[in-house]
Amino acid sequence: MADATEFSPLGALDIAGLQDGFRGELLRPEDTGYEDARQVWNGSINRLPALIARCAGVADVIVAVRFAKDNGLLVAVRGGGHSFPGLSVCDGGLVIDLSPMKGIRVDPEACTVRAQAGVLLGELDRETQAFGLAIPSGIVTHTGVSGLTLGGGINWLQRKYGLAIDQLLSVDLVTAEGEFVKASATENEDLFWGVRGGGGNFGIVTDFEFRLNPVGPTVLAGPIFWPIEDSPKVLRFYREWIAEAPDELMTIVAHRKAPPLPFVPRELHGKLVVGVACCYAGPLEEGEKVMKPLKEFGSPVLDLCVPKPYLAHQAMFDPSFPHGWWYYLRACDVAQLTDEVIDITVDHALRINSPLSTFVIWQLGGTLARVGEEETAFGGRSAGHTFNIAGITETEEGFDEEREWVRTFWSGLEPYHTSVYVNFLMEEGEERIRQAYGGKKYERLKALKRRYDPDNLFRLNQNIRPDVTV
Ligand SMILES: Cc1cc2nc3c(=O)[nH]c(=O)nc-3n(C[C@H](O)[C@H](O)[C@H](O)COP(=O)(O)OP(=O)(O)OC[C@H]3O[C@@H](n4cnc5c(N)ncnc54)[C@H](O)[C@@H]3O)c2cc1C
Repeated sequence: MADATEFSPLGALDIAGLQDGFRGELLRPEDTGYEDARQVWNGSINRLPALIARCAGVADVIVAVRFAKDNGLLVAVRGGGHSFPGLSVCDGGLVIDLSPMKGIRVDPEACTVRAQAGVLLGELDRETQAFGLAIPSGIVTHTGVSGLTLGGGINWLQRKYGLAIDQLLSVDLVTAEGEFVKASATENEDLFWGVRGGGGNFGIVTDFEFRLNPVGPTVLAGPIFWPIEDSPKVLRFYREWIAEAPDELMTIVAHRKAPPLPFVPRELHGKLVVGVACCYAGPLEEGEKVMKPLKEFGSPVLDLCVPKPYLAHQAMFDPSFPHGWWYYLRACDVAQLTDEVIDITVDHALRINSPLSTFVIWQLGGTLARVGEEETAFGGRSAGHTFNIAGITETEEGFDEEREWVRTFWSGLEPYHTSVYVNFLMEEGEERIRQAYGGKKYERLKALKRRYDPDNLFRLNQNIRPDVTV
């Protein structure tokens, strides 16, 4: 393993200018706490920054950005640390770590919430659900609000309330010059357009303001499972059933080996299954009616779709994606689950080897699809489904084989790819980033980048390079 000092451009550099008045913590490789602070969610990422600036507030972010700029440092920005390719940590250079910034304030009368950049989804849901409210956020509680929102934020409520960005009202942001600006529908509108899908390319968002909507607190939600042999029939039935689905219903199809969790019968442990997980964001009795045909289809081996607290549903996938395991992911959007797509899907589902690997197929449509493609930077609103194929192992052992399974599966679907969700990209190169936005929007994002970050200080992200395309 490399030594952090090998990469460190800070070796001969005086950090006194940064230390003066910095309210948070500054961690160098020799400091207690550095080891913990450099870890990100994906255990396959092992990087050694020269300095980690754990910011206590906006003033710290401003000072850290100016210090990085003045000293020509490589900068990584960390919210929740869940970037699949580990873009929130770097070798050498400076990590601007926002995770200590945990402020949340719900205004139940105005139905809005403000959240600072270090807040995680579960923390935000906990505060908003105290008032029976929620933002459409994401499906694993320990994901960061920051990175998820800046990419778009697909979620259990998206067919009713849209993406996380569709409920975003404003942001506070520190630019590459270290200037503090606000952006909303009426202030710096171009920037507000760009941060709704364009990631961290234009600056560091320190604070998010969202509109809240009534949700639960009890929802009809959870997965129903069938044996893997039934997958071709289940997927074909599912395709017809969701064609008529109301916006309140959101589903995710998952294939995997049944995990040894307490609510899974012992005889299913380790067996390949297909599951349709649902969340009905409306009255329970209506939800029961909508769910009935699925619940009665074929012979499910397990039905866990029941009335439950929305907060419990939001945590359902947590045990499947803990910190520190090794993850490799490829994703794509497809227009429809055609017979050909289903056949490829089932074929690769049968080849799942690791007890931890899985792939999920997100249902899109509804409200998220009714927002105009040009209204926000996010791309792919008209896609029917998003595939997210994850090769997972606990350690390095067996990781290469899982990665190969993911790649082969993803390549098999290639003729059917439409767009791709930017937050599900690994480090796949500029052409894939262009695909995430589409050519026209990508050029608009580049122009915005030239305006807000012409020197590409913020480049450890799905990078929109400021240079003009030739
Ligand atoms: C277990 C898991 C579950 C997921 N579930 C969902 C889901 O349900 N829906 C969904 O849409 N996505 C989901 N994702 C993808 C997720 O949206 C991205 O991984 C997202 O980038 C995570 O944000 P973060 O703040 O945790 O990550 P980080 O690694 O901290 O940041 C990710 C990127 O955003 C930049 N960034 C972070 N914060 C800021 C900021 N405040 N200002 C500027 N730039 C910033 C970072 O520099 C980095 O490039 C999931 C990911 C994981 C690992």
